[in-house]
Amino acid sequence: TIVAPVSRTVPARTVAVPVPADPNPAGHGPLDVLGVPGQVNLDYAATAPCARAAADAVAELLPWYASVHRGAGALSRRCTLAYERARQQVGDFLGVRPDDHVVFTRNTTDALNLLARVLPPGGKVVTFASEHHANLLPWPVDTVRLPVPGSPGAAVRALDAALRELRRGTDGSAPILVAVTGASNVTGECWPIADLARAAHRHGARIVLDAAQLAPHAEVDISALAVDYVAVSGHKLYAPFGIGVLAGRADWLDAAPPYLAGGGATRTVGPATNDVDWADGPGRHEAGTPNLLGAVALAAVCEALTGADRPALYAREQALLAHLRTGLAATPDVVELRTFDADAPRVGIVSFVVAGRDSAQVAAELAQRWQIGLRDGLFCAHPLARRLLTEAGTRSGRPDLPPTALRASIGLGSTTRQVDRLLAALAALG
Ligand code: PLP
Repeated sequence: TIVAPVSRTVPARTVAVPVPADPNPAGHGPLDVLGVPGQVNLDYAATAPCARAAADAVAELLPWYASVHRGAGALSRRCTLAYERARQQVGDFLGVRPDDHVVFTRNTTDALNLLARVLPPGGKVVTFASEHHANLLPWPVDTVRLPVPGSPGAAVRALDAALRELRRGTDGSAPILVAVTGASNVTGECWPIADLARAAHRHGARIVLDAAQLAPHAEVDISALAVDYVAVSGHKLYAPFGIGVLAGRADWLDAAPPYLAGGGATRTVGPATNDVDWADGPGRHEAGTPNLLGAVALAAVCEALTGADRPALYAREQALLAHLRTGLAATPDVVELRTFDADAPRVGIVSFVVAGRDSAQVAAELAQRWQIGLRDGLFCAHPLARRLLTEAGTRSGRPDLPPTALRASIGLGSTTRQVDRLLAALAALG
């Protein structure tokens, strides 16, 4: 049990802080997550812990470790098959259409940069100021950045109006791509992707979904959402670092020069410097020896999630999230950051500040005294986080909000006990 004062008058150093038992000490289900006993990880949005399915898939393949697409031996053949099977499995998980490509990348940032490189010339990209830097910065400098909307409905209306306006323009800059997040990494709030996709298509633009935060929590199906591209990161989806995916329409990917030039991206190379016949298909953008273990681990998690009762997992997470938010709301001086209404749909991410307290110092105290890991800062979404901090100050009437925030995020291995520990620690801040 956690022993902590609820009264703010008790000096913080008198708090007894027994380390809680590992909530999941010997999990062997594919979606059990690995962790360190006593450490409370409430930072899933940065990097989720590794799922048993990923660890097992890597362990099984390691003895077969050999080159992918570059060898004739039995080991190499098995590795090549495993890599291509992983592509298929990840594609199935994301609901790709038969003629879509599934390109393995390093992460979401890499996937969105790849898409930015294959954009057809001319035409405008449209995005929102609320995006993660990974979905703000790769796009051309003349990208239209729409202001942070006040509600999901306002986002759809603003996009529709902006696209209509761009189409009317006579400078040849018709919209070609809308780039939006599925769930905010700052607030966890979900964006109305299917409606945004309809608006994009109505005006002749494509849409890419940054699903880095949505995919770990809810089903992301390219076909059902009718989006053109999806980007995800393995390390946020309970798989290792260094693997990500860009999935979607093949034509732009096949028409553009390779993202990276090198072995694996070519059909043939002649003696002249410009004598290269580049490959079509996902391999065109995967030059160099690929991350087999990352791909296989990610595919194993995708399979495990597909086989799980996802509505039940979602309901469990939502209950825990509600418990966390209710507790935060009841904690003196804590103010939540949000873009939309308090009851807008969201995944297991909450950002907040403790009025009068420096967020980095609070995070350090949580780590050192309570073994709680969460994130502080502006979360690689500076325009959004700064705006929400200003709005939170106005809403709460507190002039003493710090300039950076704290973020707690939960997922498959999170427990009520961990959340209660955070709430107790915040209540006990000196
Ligand atoms: N998009 C969102 C919404 C994110 O939260 C993140 C990471 O936090 C990214 C993109 C970038 O992911 P990665 O660092 O794995 O490339």
